[in-house]
Amino acid sequence: MTRQHNILQKPSTFFDIFERKGVSEVKSTHYCPGCGHGILHKLIAEAIEDFGIQDKTVLISPVGCSVFAYYYFDTGNIQSAHGRAPAVGTGYKRANPHSIVISYQGDGDLAAIGANEIIQAANRGEAITVFFVNNAIYGMTGGQMAPTTLLNQTTTTTPYGRNKFHEGYPLRMSEIIATLEAPVYVERCMLTDAKNIAKTRNAVRKAIKAQMDQKGFSFVEVLSGCPTGWKMTPQEAKTWITTDLSTYFVPGVYKDDLETREPHEVKQENPPPEDYYHLLNINQTLKEEYVFPHVLKEPFLEEIKIAGFGGQGLLSLGYVIAALAMGHAYEVSWLPSYGPEMRGGTANCSVKISNSRIGSPLVTNPSTLIVMNKPSMKKFENAVINGGIIIYDSGLIDTPPSRQDVTAIGVPATEIADTLGNTKAANILLLGVYARLKKQFLDEQYIQTALPAILESKALRDVNIKAFNYGFTYSENMK
Ligand code: SF4
Repeated sequence: MTRQHNILQKPSTFFDIFERKGVSEVKSTHYCPGCGHGILHKLIAEAIEDFGIQDKTVLISPVGCSVFAYYYFDTGNIQSAHGRAPAVGTGYKRANPHSIVISYQGDGDLAAIGANEIIQAANRGEAITVFFVNNAIYGMTGGQMAPTTLLNQTTTTTPYGRNKFHEGYPLRMSEIIATLEAPVYVERCMLTDAKNIAKTRNAVRKAIKAQMDQKGFSFVEVLSGCPTGWKMTPQEAKTWITTDLSTYFVPGVYKDDLETREPHEVKQENPPPEDYYHLLNINQTLKEEYVFPHVLKEPFLEEIKIAGFGGQGLLSLGYVIAALAMGHAYEVSWLPSYGPEMRGGTANCSVKISNSRIGSPLVTNPSTLIVMNKPSMKKFENAVINGGIIIYDSGLIDTPPSRQDVTAIGVPATEIADTLGNTKAANILLLGVYARLKKQFLDEQYIQTALPAILESKALRDVNIKAFNYGFTYSENMK
């Protein structure tokens, strides 16, 4: 529904109800009275509505008081790690060049922990729009000094005032960003009175329009009141912005190349499907020619944890399982995790396989645990679901799992692999054990055909195939 401009009403790009902590409030927000965030939210929401870009806008919220921006904006939303909004925005925008990506950040998020992120994104000229709320303090965490805290300004961490010899000078981010070549538009505004709010409104629109016109990186800094952090009334806070904050952070346009900058060429949104096979190292011919006799149709989710020492091929085993499952046209995820030592330290990976979309790649309670050392058995045994499976290298783990409610299969995989020609094939031997146990959704004939193409090491290919067959037969004999 189009907003009527002659009456005050909430833009349709805001949700009707602001839900927070289970409380539904139609009119209020979680922001303090006199806070500038609400005003800036409204200016952005109105611009999105007026430009008709709601369905392609993604707002990235930061860590800080505006962390809950996604409770308000009825757009795509991502909440990023502290200071990483420009990196997240970069990834999203590059994958979806026709989207409108708005990064919304405070001074702790953008000018402290995320200072490098914002400078690099600006310097690359990422085609995103950044709104930077500068209220010269850390509001959410109780009023500590921010990089933008003024000299002599008292905060909970500078009770005698910010001292230039101890804490340095307040960072002027607009000026810094404007010195870079790539940004196309940089302006600082303030939310003090109707006139300046109107100026901010124009800046918000210019910055978003710059992105719509594919002109490149745009940045608007907004001096905004934090009555709570400043320990002032809302009116005092507005006055302080005018008398103090804006004398150091002077409002104005710091860069405007909008007229002269050529639009960026929008690259192809996604690679053509045939490229996926190449990018993911999948044998396309194999996939196209093979007809699966029985891909499981009933909903299922297999969650696998594979753990042991680095160097045992555990991450590769997870990758191979994921690749085989993907070859069956299932949804898959593969998430490696290893310590600082690439070899010798503990390592594990999580694999999920499903015939519906996977929300998170994390595996906390595996349905299958494949484990190749004692520390990992100790760490993950109790996480396996009731009725799950533990496949372990019984040559390396001499104590079988104590769980009685799971199926435990001990195979001296490393010893057997040694007799087959190479201990490094132990991981694929365990794959054979696993594939036999999971033949309700993994097709043996497909695996036999696909495995040689998926295995990366040509030198180990023959011994790996032998090991797979050994493992497959091993578990078959157990049944
Ligand atoms: S602490 Fe400050 S910035 Fe945070 S919501 Fe309250 S007034 Fe706004």
